[in-house]
Amino acid sequence: MRKNFSMSGAEKLWNIIKAIARIAVRIVIEIIHRSIINLFDSLFGFLNWPKKKLRIKIFILRDQHGDQSCPEKELEVSIDHARKVFKKNFNVEVMAHRKNVFVEVLPNTSPVEALHVKGGRDALSDEFKIAGSFFASNLSGLFYPVTVFVVKNIEGASGCSLGPISDYVTLDTVGAKQTSVLAHELAHACGLWHISERSNLLYPYADRHDEVKWWQKNIFRGSRHVTYW
Ligand SMILES: [Zn+2]
Repeated sequence: MRKNFSMSGAEKLWNIIKAIARIAVRIVIEIIHRSIINLFDSLFGFLNWPKKKLRIKIFILRDQHGDQSCPEKELEVSIDHARKVFKKNFNVEVMAHRKNVFVEVLPNTSPVEALHVKGGRDALSDEFKIAGSFFASNLSGLFYPVTVFVVKNIEGASGCSLGPISDYVTLDTVGAKQTSVLAHELAHACGLWHISERSNLLYPYADRHDEVKWWQKNIFRGSRHVTYW
């Protein structure tokens, strides 16, 4: 009993150490991209030229019974929307990372901590626990592609992103069906924050439109996720 308890304490600490290392590495890589590699886009991204690429992979989680959080088909509308909005606003082509398929079901079942996550400001605490470790070990690729995990439920939200400090975003069963949530969360992953105009893609609520400001183009195109290759 005592041994189990100390094991779980060690695991908790290990999850925290891993999360700090993951975040620190990503902050350094992001700063290098924004200030050196993507400097042209950080300053003149509003020119929308030349074309850049954003690679994404959507993984649908399964619970311990093997049930998927949502059917693959349900994501088609939001993928189409994200592709259109990013092409129009940023001259960025959204592509599937690996195998030319946007959506796959994770073969292994997922822990309950990853199926039911926190949203909003509390999401950061999950990054230091089992959910954060699980998402980190199931990424489609490191640093450049954005992996989208479709979970069962996000507390108080239908989608969530930690911004550039992680390589993934989450959608829940509600967010997967809403047209603009995927594009909105991907925009967060590429460095954009909320804006209070309903016409803007970064408006926090689902009745948002898809416009962006010129400076949002600079920030988006300066992201490490948005590449020329
Ligand atoms: Zn948001």
